[in-house]
Amino acid sequence: MKALIVLLAVLAGIWIWRSSRRLPPERKQPGGNHGRDKAAIDDMFSCPVCGVHLPRSDAVQGKRALYCSQDHRHQAED
Ligand SMILES: [Zn+2]
Repeated sequence: MKALIVLLAVLAGIWIWRSSRRLPPERKQPGGNHGRDKAAIDDMFSCPVCGVHLPRSDAVQGKRALYCSQDHRHQAED
């Protein structure tokens, strides 16, 4: 009987530990300071015309996609 109580206590401890570990990733969804490398990769896009990879901050916004330049936006959409 004692072993069962110990087992339940251990399982409860693991459950509490796991549920408390699951919280931080949900909280840092809107681009936290963590993982700058991953954020940099996420902020890259590929021009659908020439395939070059650029940061989103350098993108030209088209109606259907992001492009590397106005020329490629015109080429793809006009
Ligand atoms: Zn391009």
